[in-house]
Amino acid sequence: MKAEFDICIIGAGMAGATIAAYLAPKGIRIALIDQCFKEKKRIVGELLQPGAVLSLEEMQLGHLLEGFEAQPVDGYALLHGDQKITIPYPASYKGMGLHNGLFLQNIRAAALKNNFVTQIQGKALQLLENERNEIIGVSYREEGTSEIKSIHAPLTITSDGFFSNFRESLSNNEKSVTSYFIGVILKDCAMPFPKHGHVFLSGPTPFICYPISSNEVRLLIDFPGDQLPRKALLQEHLDSNVTPYIPAEMLKSYQQAMHEGGFKVMPNHYMAAKPIIRKGAVMLGDALNMRHPLTGGGLTAVFSDIQILSAHLLAMPDFSNNDLIHTKIEAYYQDRQRANANLNILANALYGVMSNNLLKAAVFNYLKCGGSNAQESISILAGLNRNNYALIKQFACLAVYGAFDLVRENICNVPRAFRILLDALTIIKPLAKNELSVSAVVSGYFKK
Ligand SMILES: Cc1cc2nc3c(=O)[nH]c(=O)nc-3n(C[C@H](O)[C@H](O)[C@H](O)COP(=O)(O)OP(=O)(O)OC[C@H]3O[C@@H](n4cnc5c(N)ncnc54)[C@H](O)[C@@H]3O)c2cc1C
Repeated sequence: MKAEFDICIIGAGMAGATIAAYLAPKGIRIALIDQCFKEKKRIVGELLQPGAVLSLEEMQLGHLLEGFEAQPVDGYALLHGDQKITIPYPASYKGMGLHNGLFLQNIRAAALKNNFVTQIQGKALQLLENERNEIIGVSYREEGTSEIKSIHAPLTITSDGFFSNFRESLSNNEKSVTSYFIGVILKDCAMPFPKHGHVFLSGPTPFICYPISSNEVRLLIDFPGDQLPRKALLQEHLDSNVTPYIPAEMLKSYQQAMHEGGFKVMPNHYMAAKPIIRKGAVMLGDALNMRHPLTGGGLTAVFSDIQILSAHLLAMPDFSNNDLIHTKIEAYYQDRQRANANLNILANALYGVMSNNLLKAAVFNYLKCGGSNAQESISILAGLNRNNYALIKQFACLAVYGAFDLVRENICNVPRAFRILLDALTIIKPLAKNELSVSAVVSGYFKK
């Protein structure tokens, strides 16, 4: 019997809505289910790296960045004590700062206007299985009626975000919270470098900011540890570790925002992708894979996953052959691992570096030298350079540079130089083990 839908998508968030908007115009029949289609005010996914913008353009979805004051971003600024540097993105590439909620509504509207997409409002409850344990759809509680209903499709995409209910059946995930981000909007705020993402390194933990509309700047403040910050602790953190390091030109807007309150707090997860490949289902977005948001790499990974998965699915004549769908899912998981390794490693490695005083000073001085090292580093951060060898090389160069710099300053610094090398190794080793295959690094070396 021919199913009513080719694909059932659980979660019309950044991943689910975007893949629907991309695949529906190609004649793929989609059921798009979400518990809420209203605009949400979130602090996530507000800086698109050039790699994410490029993916959208390649999918002919670049126009979805228009019409809601998204702001072009030309590169990064790093501030450490009274020193400041800027690193531009590679020529002709740009990032975008935006309101995630407005962007998502644009994507959803593009998906839903297509006749091949059926909008279903409800909470997805359970994956449906046949007698061979293959997934054949999902049950959901319909919004409004509270009736339990089912959708059947040869492929179910679970893209229900970082609290995914379906991850347990489709992966061997090990999720951990690295830190929390406290988000606040600064109104009419002059940043030291307009059109730049800023990373502030002067305090004990980093904080970042970037424009999200013509008169708003998003400030994200890191709160280390895996415990939700309590009010008193949060205030103490702001007073001691953030406020003293806010640049003079931002202070008025910052103080106004502190006075108004309205902080939003989000956990920052790390979760390597460890899919269990089952017939009839595939994971996409945060349900599958998460990294620290310090580098704004999440949507670059999401959009490139959509391109990879779609390319495999579109290579099939139709959705009638379950074995073929299964082969395509396997190929997607394999290809995406390679494509996203740099984004995943860099995000958590950089967070480790920026929370370590010796390495933090080293990275600042290393990037201050400019030249090809700074250019290669920013192209990795931008999601434009996915060569694993390039990342490992840059990380090793940074650690050696930091160690050498200390010894050059004073020979008595030899123990600290060893410390830097050891800390760098401790940061990169588990990430590389999770994300990289040795053959990918070696082949990257030979491609150079
Ligand atoms: C603090 C923070 C800041 C970030 N900043 C950036 C950034 O600047 N740049 C960047 O690229 N990335 C950033 N990220 C990462 C990025 O936001 C995510 O990778 C991205 O939003 C993931 O999209 P998603 O579709 O998987 O999840 P979501 O966008 O969260 O979508 C999940 C959807 O599933 C729906 N849903 C959930 N459960 C069910 C259910 N049972 N039934 C039906 N529907 C359901 C939800 O309603 C939601 O619409 C940040 C992350 C964090 C935590």
